[in-house]
Amino acid sequence: MVSSPPAKEPRCVFCAIVSRRSPAWIVYEDPSTLAFLDIFPFTRGHLLVVPKRHGARLTDLPFEDQMALIRSLDELCRRTERLTPDYNLALNAGARAGQVVFHVHFHLIPRYEGPNPFRTTSRTPLAEADARAVVAELSRP
Ligand code: AMP
Ligand code: ZN
Repeated sequence: MVSSPPAKEPRCVFCAIVSRRSPAWIVYEDPSTLAFLDIFPFTRGHLLVVPKRHGARLTDLPFEDQMALIRSLDELCRRTERLTPDYNLALNAGARAGQVVFHVHFHLIPRYEGPNPFRTTSRTPLAEADARAVVAELSRP
């Protein structure tokens, strides 16, 4: 496994999670990647998968970190299939593409029956009881 130094951009919200200065519902960690629940999920089990090294865009990362991310995504897609076989995997790069947090992250969004969650503006904050249940389901290797 490739090992990377921890992220250290002082005002970055995801660097704060990586360095455990801020809390998060973490489901997966390896030497270069962290995955945790989105606090405003589109659907149940919406994950963010981030490199520990700070970079705004995928193309800012060294090749080894990009490859480590892909490995982690593969693992997390497999775990997500415990919830549902269908999901979206998305990366927003730049403000015009909807990027709000400028630390590379993939959204892994499980998809269920029902209305298209991307067409509604009703993203409700992550509820603690549900977060605990999802972490229990997804943190198991
Ligand atoms: P993007 O628009 O691609 O930059 O997405 C940023 C995502 O980060 C949004 O879906 C937010 O809900 C999520 N987010 C922001 N702060 C946190 C946090 N502290 N913990 C978990 N998710 C967060
Ligand atoms: Zn960062």
